[in-house]
Parts: sequence; structure tokens; C-alpha cells
Amino acid sequence: MQSIPIKNVGTNRLVDKFQREYYYLRLSVTDVCNFKCTYCLPSGYQPPVQKESFLSLDEIRRIVGAFAAMGTEKVRLTGGEPTLRKDFLAIVETISALEGIKKVALTTNGYRMEKDVERWKKAGVSSINVSVDSLDPRQFYSITGENKFHQVMKGIERAFEVGYEKIKVNSVLMKNLNDQEFDRFKNWVKDKPIQMRFIELMQTGEMDQFFNRYHLSGQILAEKLLKEGWILRQKDRTDGPAKVFSHPDYLGEIGLIMPYEKNFCASCNRLRVSAKGKLHLCLFGEEGVDLRDLLVSDEQQVILQSRLYAALQGKREHHLLAQGNRGIRTNLASIGG
Ligand code: SAM
Ligand code: SF4
Repeated sequence: MQSIPIKNVGTNRLVDKFQREYYYLRLSVTDVCNFKCTYCLPSGYQPPVQKESFLSLDEIRRIVGAFAAMGTEKVRLTGGEPTLRKDFLAIVETISALEGIKKVALTTNGYRMEKDVERWKKAGVSSINVSVDSLDPRQFYSITGENKFHQVMKGIERAFEVGYEKIKVNSVLMKNLNDQEFDRFKNWVKDKPIQMRFIELMQTGEMDQFFNRYHLSGQILAEKLLKEGWILRQKDRTDGPAKVFSHPDYLGEIGLIMPYEKNFCASCNRLRVSAKGKLHLCLFGEEGVDLRDLLVSDEQQVILQSRLYAALQGKREHHLLAQGNRGIRTNLASIGG
């Protein structure tokens, strides 16, 4: 695999005006998904009228190269469903080979995991987050629109077999839908090295009624955990947004992702790039900065890094979700959650 070194050209590190430094890039490699999760793409992926291609392998190498030269150490591949890309392995290999990149993480719905996880590992995927919204196959089907519960579960087993020591499992807990499974999920990880992460339902563009009906505050779950003797763990520099709890009687851990919590943004260490090459400073509330014109050749690295730095200076201290300003995101599949 050809790896073209992209040198640190000496532009600033990715520090914003609130002195937050960005080590972590979430890169969406496709908007396409084969699932129809009720909270994300309830009608499945709908190709837009005006078609625009997703980032090519070379464009991905250039964009991640620029981030790496400015201090990014961890890249998370997301989507849509990132593993639907035919060149998925080449993407992982290319990013892993870039100077400065220490971790390549993947967020997946897990439908290919049983078959492909060994190849992912060899290519350089250092950690995996897989979404499992229910431990009941029928409920799994009704939330995701796909009858693939057993396939995803086998994928998790296979990941352990090929050498992953820990797997993170994402679940969006919704009121009166799958929230009754909270204890069941906890029991499931009692003797497994799984970090079970409950993501609070986030309100997106076309979701008013759904959100009002199903949103469940993560704070309620946090209180429950503390009462049961779970202990909140300290965060590491490149850790994601989850508050992670551990318990002496459990091998697994519980993570809570609570974007509506007051101080959620204070520890933000993430920037996002969409599959069409737009830089998003925050998951919510802004249009994105187009980078594609600077991904045409390796010679544009200096100016690309300058644009990244300049754009970052416009990052707000907080998102405005709690004030009911949910921004313009139609769904999270277009930017990777
Ligand atoms: N398809 C992959 C998957 O499902 O893991 C990766 C992309 S998906 C957009 C990334 C994460 O975002 C998933 O864990 C999903 O549950 C979460 N997500 C999507 N829409 C959401 C919403 N409205 N609120 C909270 N989480 C959401
Ligand atoms: Fe697809 Fe992931 Fe969205 Fe579900 S959450 S529809 S798997 S992109």
C-alpha cells in the first residue's frame, strides 16, 4: 500500500479560542446506509437529487494528513455505514499509515462484522463501536428495520476471537421503547469486556414528535448507576464524549453520552468532516466549511491547514441544543453521529 508522507508544514496546531485542542477527527466516508433506524433514517437512505460524489481515497489521505500534521491522533470512520464503501480497507490502511495517527476507530452497524472483522483488524482498525439498540431480536428489527440481530451479535463474538480486547456498543435508549432494557444491557456486560454506551436521543431536522415522545434524559440513567455503586471514571485526552462508569462486580463498563448536559461542550475534542468534504465544527447548528477545492493535490497542504485553523477560530463555546436550537442537520447519518 502506497503511503505518501504528508509533512507537518508548521501551521498552527488545532487549538480554538477557548484553548480547546483537537486530537480527534470524526470522518464520515459515506452518507449511504443499509439500515433504517427510526431515529436516523426511518425511510432508509434517499439519494439526493443533485448527486455529489463522496470523498475519494486521495482526498481522504489529504484531509486526514492535514489534520494529523496539526496534532490529530485519532480518526473515527463513520457514516452512514462506512463499511459499505468498497475501498473501506484501503481507507483504513491509508489513514493508519499517516504520520501522527495513532488510532483508527470505526463506528458501524455491524452487519459485515462477522465476515470482515479480521480484515479490518489487519488493515489497522484499532477499536470498534457497534450499534445495538436492543437485545431482543424483534425489537432490534423494529428499531433498525433490519432482521440482523443475530448477525451483529456473532460479529461481536468474532471481534473478540480475532483479538479485540474491548468492544464498545452504542445504543440509543428511548422512553417506553427500549429503555426497559437498561438492566438487561447491564447484565449482558457483567462478564464481558464491553463498554455499553447509551446515547441520549438527539433532536434532528424532521423529528419533533418523535423526539418529544421518546427522548429520555441520560441524567436519569446516571443517577441510577451512582445509586447502584457505579463509579465515574476520569477521561483520557482522546476519549470521546461518553461519561464512563465502572463497577467492581462488572467486567464491562457503562458509558453515557448526554449532549443536553450543561457542560457537554467544555471537554469537546472532536471535529467532523462530512463524506462530501465539509468541515463541521459542531454536530449541530452550522453549515460547514467546504474543503474540497483544497483536496485536489498534495501541494495544497499549507493552505488547507490554514483554512482548518481559521475555521476553528469560529467554533462556538457551546452548542445551542438546550435552547431548542437544533441546527440544520436533517439526520445524523449525513455527518456520522
Ligand atoms: N451506521 C453506523 C452506526 O449506526 O453505528 C455509523 C453511523 S451512525 C449515524 C453513528 C451513531 O449515531 C449510531 O450509534 C447511532 O445510534 C447514532 N445516532 C444516529 N442518529 C441519532 C440520534 N438522532 N440521536 C442519537 N444518536 C443517534
Ligand atoms: Fe444507518 Fe447508523 Fe443511521 Fe442506523 S444509525 S440508519 S445504521 S447510519
